[in-house]
Amino acid sequence: MRIYNSATHKKEEFQPIESGKVRMYVCGPTVYDNIHIGNARTFISFDVIRRWLIASGYEVTFAQNLTDVDDKIIKRANEQGRTAAEVATEFSDKFIGVMRAANVLDPDVRPRATKEIGPMIAMIKTLIEQGHAYAADNGDVYFAVRSDSNYGQVSGRNIDDLMVGARIEENEDKNDPLDFALWKAAKPSWPSPWGEGRPGWHTECAAMVHRYLGTPIDIHGGGSDLAFPHHENECAQATCAWHQGFSNTWMHTGMLLVDGEKMSKSLGNFFTLAEVLEQHSAAALRLLMLQTSYRSPLDFSWERLEGAENSLTRIAGTVENLRWAANHATADADEAAAEAFAAKAAETRAAFKECMDDDFNTAGAMGAVFGFVTECNQYLEQAGDAADKTAALAAADTLVELLDTFGVELPEPKVELPLGLLGVAAGLVAYTGDDVDEAAAKILEARAEARAAKNWDLADAIRDQLKDLGLTIEDTAAGTRIKSL
Ligand code: AMP
Ligand code: ZN
Repeated sequence: MRIYNSATHKKEEFQPIESGKVRMYVCGPTVYDNIHIGNARTFISFDVIRRWLIASGYEVTFAQNLTDVDDKIIKRANEQGRTAAEVATEFSDKFIGVMRAANVLDPDVRPRATKEIGPMIAMIKTLIEQGHAYAADNGDVYFAVRSDSNYGQVSGRNIDDLMVGARIEENEDKNDPLDFALWKAAKPSWPSPWGEGRPGWHTECAAMVHRYLGTPIDIHGGGSDLAFPHHENECAQATCAWHQGFSNTWMHTGMLLVDGEKMSKSLGNFFTLAEVLEQHSAAALRLLMLQTSYRSPLDFSWERLEGAENSLTRIAGTVENLRWAANHATADADEAAAEAFAAKAAETRAAFKECMDDDFNTAGAMGAVFGFVTECNQYLEQAGDAADKTAALAAADTLVELLDTFGVELPEPKVELPLGLLGVAAGLVAYTGDDVDEAAAKILEARAEARAAKNWDLADAIRDQLKDLGLTIEDTAAGTRIKSL
């Protein structure tokens, strides 16, 4: 398996530190508001990456923090006359709920910054002892960036360039404008050797990675906007405190854009994940995202989401047709055609794996799935009422399973043929049993007889009555059947 390491700008052969095991960390949200689908793109991308690692046989330990103390949370709390803890609890709960609704697997560990103050203070103490950090007179503690000769290793920047271009706030408490806060003398606060205060954002993640996964880890991820300064600063702290590597591979997702601009809270060009999931399935949103590589920018539009919804319906229809044809075949299958068709399923699985093993190329993998859908439809067309049961069922399973590794659940066929309703339609025909398939067959038979006898009124009445029930008569290559509209 090859993974693009954004710190080295290369695709590298993936070698976990411990054979067969992957330790992975993805920065979680700051819980001051509902997340938008830009944030969701990053979380869904890493969910798919994690699912693929698991499907490939790795034992994955996945940690993700909740940043539940931050200036933005405090600002929101002040605006609403609530405590920061109330705001953080509300949006932590909402985040967890909406991630589950998007079919993102829960992390194995979900530490909250406010519960991890002890380990953060311990890390800061170590950094001060080793000359990498200093306490300022006002009670802040800063990391001395120039004390880290490897600073810039994650984001590929060098210190002198940073000085020239950086929008780094001047602050008289810092020894150097590049230095960043590990601890701030600000409320809400916890006691520390430097007085009451709270941790800086970068400090949280470094301490939690160390505590819950142990450094170095295999994969550290987040959106590309986090590479600098957040990840750079996490890495600087961790490597200076513990003298081990921090993360062997850095993975960064591309930004989700609307009309060419990054979706963000500050620009106001966002849709929350919750509101999108009110109108569309999680499966469609995931499919839309997977059709672009996780590293590329992704243009969001409602049309594209609608398109993904239609693609899903099409795939679900093919799965349904494969199963129906398998169970209703009335003639012997052509063995050579069935074998060739079964081979296509195996080729699709192989192509899917090849794409996913190449830096999680979900777009290529989906291309293989769509190609196979076309092949399935062609097979059904050719086979007519003589589809090979084993090959058709295996093809349906292939489609369902491959999408399942993406966390994409196919929509259920819209309506199971409801016997009670069919009974009403059957009022036009002689049927009193309780078998749905049999009832459907009787109705179709009655319609066929009516047509043969040129009794158009009865034939139309049967069709219209089914239509009123949300059902339709469909002629497929494998025969005529009743389907939901
Ligand atoms: P935040 O709460 O701002 O730290 O964001 C949480 C995660 O969402 C981070 O990994 C960000 O990099 C990511 N993120 C923010 N905006 C976008 C976007 N427009 N597209 C993709 N990821 C984003
Ligand atoms: Zn982080």
